[in-house]
Amino acid sequence: MKRDYYEILGVGRDADEGTIKRAYRQAALKFHPDRNPDDSEAEERFKEATEAYEVLRDPELRGLYDRYGHDGVKAGVRGGGGGFGGFSTFDEALNIFMREFGGFGFQDIFGSGRRGRARTRGSDVKIRIALTLEDVLKGVTKTVRMPVLDNCEECNGTGMRSGVQPTSCPQCGGSGEVQQVQRSLFGQFVRVGPCSNCGGEGRVISDPCGTCNGEGRSRSEKSFELDIPPGVDSDDYLTLRGQGNVGRRGGPRGDLLAVITVEPDERFTRRGADLIYDLPVTFSQAAMGTTIDVPTVTKSAKVKVPAGVQTGHVIQLRGKGLPHLRRGGTGDLFVRVVVVTPKDLTPEQRQLFETLAEIESPAEQSEDGAGFWQKVREAFFD
Ligand SMILES: [Zn+2]
Ligand SMILES: [Zn+2]
Repeated sequence: MKRDYYEILGVGRDADEGTIKRAYRQAALKFHPDRNPDDSEAEERFKEATEAYEVLRDPELRGLYDRYGHDGVKAGVRGGGGGFGGFSTFDEALNIFMREFGGFGFQDIFGSGRRGRARTRGSDVKIRIALTLEDVLKGVTKTVRMPVLDNCEECNGTGMRSGVQPTSCPQCGGSGEVQQVQRSLFGQFVRVGPCSNCGGEGRVISDPCGTCNGEGRSRSEKSFELDIPPGVDSDDYLTLRGQGNVGRRGGPRGDLLAVITVEPDERFTRRGADLIYDLPVTFSQAAMGTTIDVPTVTKSAKVKVPAGVQTGHVIQLRGKGLPHLRRGGTGDLFVRVVVVTPKDLTPEQRQLFETLAEIESPAEQSEDGAGFWQKVREAFFD
């Protein structure tokens, strides 16, 4: 049983973005693996808090969660509306944490790292990768070229004209931090924040590199090879750590996030690893039964349609769906029979139907109401 996201972060249901972020930071630091080595309970809590944060920080997901709970968030994934299915690995959760607070590096958050020289991490680069259902079936390697910020070649990312040394920041005395005294109802606080003059680096450049204006970085293009595993779905993403934009003045790189979009395939409706195919059959095929070829993602398969079949009858072809991304194995192909009533009869067909009408027995209720709704529910809501 999943715990309530608000409860996990210890915030009210009306908490604003800032409150949620602060609560997450607190929880994440408390359960961070660097503080709790080999503690699987802490690891689980860290993951849980990160998941809660990922959902509540996103207005769309938060809306889904508020209205429909955990299932609503998961359903958002299937609907392609930018849902969230939780994490499969601990690394993913750690990535999120780094993305949010990586600017300081973990050491610096605890204040045990080097003072000053707080180099800002570069931003993440996000790309969308379009895949066909065949790509999803087999997995695929995609090569993409895209613009990223790289170290300036002129100054090697230092931002300084060559031969010039940086000077200690006069405002913070090289520590990169400034202390501010704040008064509130509860008393007096000393807040420590990054120095605004040097951006927390502790040093300033008097003679900046002319090529990058002291930024230490410039636009370039990079090629990436993405190994996309079988079974992915829209809005799943791959994280290539340290492949994004380089930080200012030699700061560490952000990540590359490749977000998947699976293009719709008009033949199938996808439901996780399962596929649904609507098979049209004629009156006579439905009445007498037949064997028909139905498409699978890349080939075809034969299905036996039993005599007397009704619209809505489902034939399950095991293992003819898509691979499960996380738990292995392959989903099924559900063939849904649709009996098609002929339009525009030829005179000969009409004659035959008239003959048939004279001798056929009256139609009977073939499905009770509950059975029908059960099927609808199975098909769409489980
Ligand atoms: Zn400073
Ligand atoms: Zn430069």
